[in-house]
Amino acid sequence: MIRPRGFRHGGVSVDHRIPLRTGHVENAFLPMHAMVVLRESLNATEASPVVSVGQEVREGQLLARAVGKRSANVHSPIPGVVRRIERVRAPGGYDTFAVVVSLEGAFSMLGKKPERYLWKSLNKADIAHIIHDKGIVCVSTGLPLSDILTDRASKPGFVMVVNALEMDPYRRVEETLLSLRPMDVVDGCAIAARVASPGKIIVAVDESVPRESLAAFEAALHTAEPAMTLQFFKRRFPQDMPSQIAAALEVPVAGDLFTIAPATLVALHEAVVSNKPHIEQYVHVGGGAVKNPAILKARIGAPIGDLIEECGGFSGKPEILVIGGPYRGRAAIDLDTPVTRTTRAILALRGDETKTAPERPCVRCGECLTACPEGLDPYTIYKNLKVGRMEIAIATGLQSCTSCGACAYVCRSRIPLVRVFDEARAKEGLS
Ligand code: SF4
Ligand code: SF4
Repeated sequence: MIRPRGFRHGGVSVDHRIPLRTGHVENAFLPMHAMVVLRESLNATEASPVVSVGQEVREGQLLARAVGKRSANVHSPIPGVVRRIERVRAPGGYDTFAVVVSLEGAFSMLGKKPERYLWKSLNKADIAHIIHDKGIVCVSTGLPLSDILTDRASKPGFVMVVNALEMDPYRRVEETLLSLRPMDVVDGCAIAARVASPGKIIVAVDESVPRESLAAFEAALHTAEPAMTLQFFKRRFPQDMPSQIAAALEVPVAGDLFTIAPATLVALHEAVVSNKPHIEQYVHVGGGAVKNPAILKARIGAPIGDLIEECGGFSGKPEILVIGGPYRGRAAIDLDTPVTRTTRAILALRGDETKTAPERPCVRCGECLTACPEGLDPYTIYKNLKVGRMEIAIATGLQSCTSCGACAYVCRSRIPLVRVFDEARAKEGLS
């Protein structure tokens, strides 16, 4: 048995995982309208539209072209007609243009036997070109994968971690993909390794994942070329932070480690082997206010309300709808909010799950300090921001904060620590 690794400090111990009542993945219904955002994260650059209103588009047709670094091509998730190109608020809380397509006409990919290209004869540059062309983005950052892998290739020998750890106890997509698409994850990893040339590949998995559900993946690992090693991690949320994984694996320089999620590897595999653009995303729809929680394979641009309806709708009035998760997620604006390439969970949480209560004064319990994986004192940063002492807030670690959400999650006074940190950084233009 491989010894599970643990994080040096911080994090929140949650002794139970939220049970996933529906274990298998289902294809979500096709949306009647898809709102496709042209920028996947605050740090990304918007793609430039190449279609016009009224134009007919095929499934998988290019809607917007990448504009330089940090920008990714965007493709139509459904066949149809472009109805609008408009400015919208993305689920991540920033503004971007989006192309709205209404479903019409025949599908060119759905229902057809996928093509299978033999990628092993391709060189690095050809593979990077396909990944760029198909608009594959990292599902965790929203940044174009081809840029990241090509940059990594200039400093070979780093540790690549297939990160199947989760941010919070609700999410299950990444570990589920290990059992559902084992060969695609392993092959996707081999393709990424061909471009980026890591020195070592480790697959990071929560120690509580039942070994029997990993059996197919472990069998696939035996055939992996280059070799990949399975490493278990003790459960402490948020579990998926690259800096914490680097410290736990004793990688001396955090920059010498690169994490990539199984969902990104599956999208990469589909692009290179099946010529398929990034038009689908695996989304965990759950939380106590959803009747039948499930993992759905949804088309990009589908309204989150459609996915909740497909899971039987609400079992009661949700206190809050969160995209992402209770630690680092954001409240959804409404049920029309679209799925993007970085939407990994939609949670409808009950009052007892959100622990919402009016904000109260700090009681100096120190729990935020204990929970911070970066070793910061969140309340001191917060206090200085509240009285306008930005310089002191920066000196005490504002920029080292990864917005992991652990401090706000444990705060018994319900002080919105992370929201205040994020707002202060955005106001000052700090990344
Ligand atoms: S959000 Fe920032 S300050 Fe709070 S626990 Fe995470 S890293 Fe620390
Ligand atoms: S957890 Fe909340 S109440 Fe406790 S010290 Fe931190 S900010 Fe204050």
